[in-house]
Amino acid sequence: MSSPQRYIAHLDLDSFFVSVEVLNNPSLKGKAIIVGGSKDRGVVSTCSYEARAYGVHSAMPMKKAMELCPHAVLVQGTRGEYSRYSRWVTDIIAAKAPLFEKASIDEFFIDLTGMDKYFDPYKWTIALREEIIEKTQLPISFGLATNKMIAKIATDMAKPNGYLFVQPGYEQAFLAPLPVSKFSGVGEQTNKSLKAMGLHLIGDILKFTPLELEKKLGKWGFELYKKAQGINVSEVHNYHEAKSISTENTFHENTSDNTFLLKELVRMTEKIAFELRQDEKLCGCIAVKIRYPNFDTTSKQTTIQYTFSDDELIPAAIKLFNELYKKGMPIRLLGVRLTELTSHALQGSLFDNPQKKKDLYKAIDDVKNKYGRGALQKARTVKKNE
Ligand SMILES: [Mg+2]
Repeated sequence: MSSPQRYIAHLDLDSFFVSVEVLNNPSLKGKAIIVGGSKDRGVVSTCSYEARAYGVHSAMPMKKAMELCPHAVLVQGTRGEYSRYSRWVTDIIAAKAPLFEKASIDEFFIDLTGMDKYFDPYKWTIALREEIIEKTQLPISFGLATNKMIAKIATDMAKPNGYLFVQPGYEQAFLAPLPVSKFSGVGEQTNKSLKAMGLHLIGDILKFTPLELEKKLGKWGFELYKKAQGINVSEVHNYHEAKSISTENTFHENTSDNTFLLKELVRMTEKIAFELRQDEKLCGCIAVKIRYPNFDTTSKQTTIQYTFSDDELIPAAIKLFNELYKKGMPIRLLGVRLTELTSHALQGSLFDNPQKKKDLYKAIDDVKNKYGRGALQKARTVKKNE
């Protein structure tokens, strides 16, 4: 028995942050807009197509972007709004899609394999896209194909505000005329070595044998060959598989020492935030759990802006704890859990002096990795009755 024809849709909101800014301030429409950090030290988080026309792109230093496009309107970014719109789109997709993955704050994969018995996957995705646009007013593009890799590249080709279906059997033909840089993981350096081999287009790759490519490019050569053939087997990971990162602590002795409990809460939150960053994830929901000596257990959760940052998770945990805890009661067990995990989009973490913050976390996490988690405690005091 042959396996069923796969159908994977990839949906991606077009310059998402810019679109949200324009919705909230229509006078920005049609202007060159750059969302990002401060003028001298920040980086571009995203920009409008009008700014892209001047060569501005994500992750470019703001300074350079302003040189290229001096008349651009700078927006610092209203992160709460991005999370709100992201959830809205997620809810619309969740209500319709049999199985979907939230790949980042503005990007989704939907697995429609097997659904072609019941409906036309292409028409279905067109209708879903129209519904998202009608309800949220956000422009969104999609690619539909037989695997994730092709679908994502198709979305890229369909942008802005369009869609593209690469029909089964046409994967190689679709890829062949595209530049090799369309593959994720092909950086400038690799691109150089490929060009030196006379490889410019994806179709050129198949003029070599896998063995020749492996000789020149190492293990990656073989992978590149498979990619050029349009082969990609990665799965769509269901968003609803309630993935979470959590930790709990049963105390040796029941305790009602508020200062101790808050210290524990901070330590535990830092621990799971560290794991979150190791997984390169953001979370959108945090929960605190308390168990009393009679085994009464209560928990409370709150949705938050997508984050991986201690600075945002710790205050949220403390707030939940204070709302939940019956002061003076001894506690047997304390727990913290992060849910609504999503892959960490470049943009999601690039706010208020983003690079610096990222570098700081990386430095801290490197030390933690090297010497174990107790090695480094950030200076922090837990105030009583905070
Ligand atoms: Mg996008």
